[in-house]
Amino acid sequence: MQFAIVDGRRSQPEPGLTGLCPGCKSDMVARCGPVRIWHWAHKGMRHCDHWWENETEWHRRWKNNFPSDWQEVIHFSPSKERHISDVKTRYGLVIEFQHSRLDAQERVSREDFYKKMIWVVDGTRRKRDHKRFRSGRGDWRRIRPNTPLFASPFPENSLPQDWIDSKVPVLFDFESSNENPPEVAQRLWCLLPGRASGQAVLWRMERAAFVKAASTGKLDLNWEAGLKQSIEATLRRQNARISMALSRRSRF
Ligand SMILES: [Zn+2]
Repeated sequence: MQFAIVDGRRSQPEPGLTGLCPGCKSDMVARCGPVRIWHWAHKGMRHCDHWWENETEWHRRWKNNFPSDWQEVIHFSPSKERHISDVKTRYGLVIEFQHSRLDAQERVSREDFYKKMIWVVDGTRRKRDHKRFRSGRGDWRRIRPNTPLFASPFPENSLPQDWIDSKVPVLFDFESSNENPPEVAQRLWCLLPGRASGQAVLWRMERAAFVKAASTGKLDLNWEAGLKQSIEATLRRQNARISMALSRRSRF
């Protein structure tokens, strides 16, 4: 973790520091070695949140786009199950940054726990994910001219299988890397939950625009209430035009 309580204050790890876990209140020690990113670790015991993933540079870069008091927020379920979200905005949106593989069942239990959440998935961890993404996009088509919305009948050809049935939006980050300085515009591909007229809908976003929208409460997650219907209407019109063209061709 990036924060522990030292003298009553949330503090970042520094060599020699000890503190308390904001979740379970047990002792933590600052680990400031040369290999892994500096972090706080529980002293002599397993981590108090079994969902917690060892953090990478990628996690930290993402989390640090948001104020520090939105990071590592403790949540309790009615049954007193405790989890620590990566980011929870002032508007109640949980953002989880996922670097390692997560099986579908685990993914579902986190979506059920946090409910109002989105995933940001590190698409750079495995080279083949990015390769499949680039080569599998032959079936994508832009839903309307000059909009960043795309429809795909077979998202499993371009996106990692474990994520395509998520109940919440999933942002794939294929462009983040140490070689890309943060000021370079980076695109994210957001898979919206569910399907419109049987097709997956993808929304291309700039990283900075996403951070700004999430930080100001302007990220509209309730797309099923409006956008989805208008996309479905557009896709239906397009399909009707295509089938008309096909039937005309078969007549002559
Ligand atoms: Zn703890």
